[in-house]
Amino acid sequence: MMPPGPLSGLIPGQMMDRPLLVAPLMRFAGDYHGDTAVVTRSVEGPIHRTTYGETHRRVQKLANALKALGIKPGDRVATLAWNTWRHLELYYAVAGIGAICHTVNPRLPIEHMRLILAHATDRLVFYDTTFTELVAGLKNSVPCVEQFIPLCDAAHAPSDPRLGDVLAYEDLIAPHAETFDWPEFNENTAASLCYTSGTTGTPKGVLYSHRALVLHSYSMVSSSRMTVDDVILPVVPMFHVNAWGVPYAAPMVGAAQVFAGRAMDGQSLFELMDGEAVTCALGVPTLWMGLLTHMRSAGRKPKGLERVVIGGAAAPESMIEAFELEFGVEVNHAWGMTETTPLGVVNTLKPKFKALSQAERTKLKSKQGRAIFGVDLRIVDEHGNALPHDGVAAGHLQVRGPWIIQSYFKHDARALTADGWFDTGDIATLDGDGYMHITDRAKDVIKSGGEWISSVDLENAALGHPDVAMAAVIGIHHPRWTERPLLICVTKGAARPTLAEINDYLGRKVPKWWLPEAITFVESLPIGPTGKIQKVKLREQFKDYRFDA
Ligand code: AMP
Repeated sequence: MMPPGPLSGLIPGQMMDRPLLVAPLMRFAGDYHGDTAVVTRSVEGPIHRTTYGETHRRVQKLANALKALGIKPGDRVATLAWNTWRHLELYYAVAGIGAICHTVNPRLPIEHMRLILAHATDRLVFYDTTFTELVAGLKNSVPCVEQFIPLCDAAHAPSDPRLGDVLAYEDLIAPHAETFDWPEFNENTAASLCYTSGTTGTPKGVLYSHRALVLHSYSMVSSSRMTVDDVILPVVPMFHVNAWGVPYAAPMVGAAQVFAGRAMDGQSLFELMDGEAVTCALGVPTLWMGLLTHMRSAGRKPKGLERVVIGGAAAPESMIEAFELEFGVEVNHAWGMTETTPLGVVNTLKPKFKALSQAERTKLKSKQGRAIFGVDLRIVDEHGNALPHDGVAAGHLQVRGPWIIQSYFKHDARALTADGWFDTGDIATLDGDGYMHITDRAKDVIKSGGEWISSVDLENAALGHPDVAMAAVIGIHHPRWTERPLLICVTKGAARPTLAEINDYLGRKVPKWWLPEAITFVESLPIGPTGKIQKVKLREQFKDYRFDA
């Protein structure tokens, strides 16, 4: 079909009009990379090993089982699950029959969970047995859900009387044939559903189409340089934006996949990566802190580890340096959102920057990433006027592209500006080489004397201080400057730097007028369901804070 447009006289191309669908990704991996490994540290404990060949067979059994349960195209099927081979099977079987795989974040408050299961009207919930208690709490309060199915075999099925009769996943799929004729349908059909984490208010559903997921995978493998030689560990959960799309992208190139189950502490990750010779792992900075601590105590990197992709929150320079200088592991910073499937930019160095000094390279790598084909980027001022791409002007980051949201699930209105861009809620700079640097969330930005101070840059600079383990910066009302930064720190040990000491350190990294007005220490910072510091909670906690006169 020709796209609508003002041009007349266009001639249609004469190539096949084959839909971009998700199921063929696993069929491809099953057919041509049938002996490639899919390894999981199972929720039950032991390491579980399978292959793409076996996975595709089991996906087909599951597709038959779902049909036998009466799941129809368009129905929603939820998961409450860690990263495992069974969760991977659900991704493909549910989407493959034209239904929608709704990955629920188990770390959400239970009221949010009830809200989104009801909003999505999920018919089935597949859950890992670690969430049995949660499921008991949900069971009678979400009437749309017909069945809760534990992801295990009969021997491991929960026997909690509150759950009634339970059919274990393995028993569900066992009787079914391992062949399935994958239907073909319009590529704009919905395949999966993920609700935003609530950091931006009430959770809203983002409904990914098959087309978006396949195009995103093409982009992911090229921009993140995934190949058949890779063994990929998405530490990022499969309930957080489809594990950044890795479960779709890895089969596209026949890369092996390793799943961490629920064990995401530094030692468990190290052992798994080391044992499976993982080449590339992806996750949020808080997870990497745990791994780095373990790497330091082991005095080495996990065998085979070549690179880590850090996204979801800003990668501090100290973390980039630790991976690259101490352990020879390349860091690729990346930025994205639930609404962007999530790949938006990935930081790889252009050849001309490879000769930079290490310090300059680290600085460049701390930018969130470089533009990739398929995601148009622009920055605008508060009136919507385009700002220059000079690496200096900071404005509201807006994006556009085939894997960017158009409207939220069950919302009629488009979630876009009048001229068709999605406003990310982030404030960023862009330079002429396409490197994008997030300076803040729009609502986190600190307005001091009419200028903006980047809380993200201040936090990252503070994290380089030897005594600081975690840092968050928020704006506090100031009678003269409107707002000034308050630095909230968790220290590594008993030593607590004074404001003068910390500012002496920060003053070498950020402009003097950015320096925190005060520093305060806490035992821990509030971490949200996707591993990010919750500034909303901090602002609430410190709402009565006043700087000394
Ligand atoms: P979510 O939809 O929960 O994945 O959150 C998306 C938000 O996380 C973005 O709008 C950014 O504010 C933030 N984010 C993601 N990646 C980065 C990054 N590399 N640096 C800074 N912030 C990031």
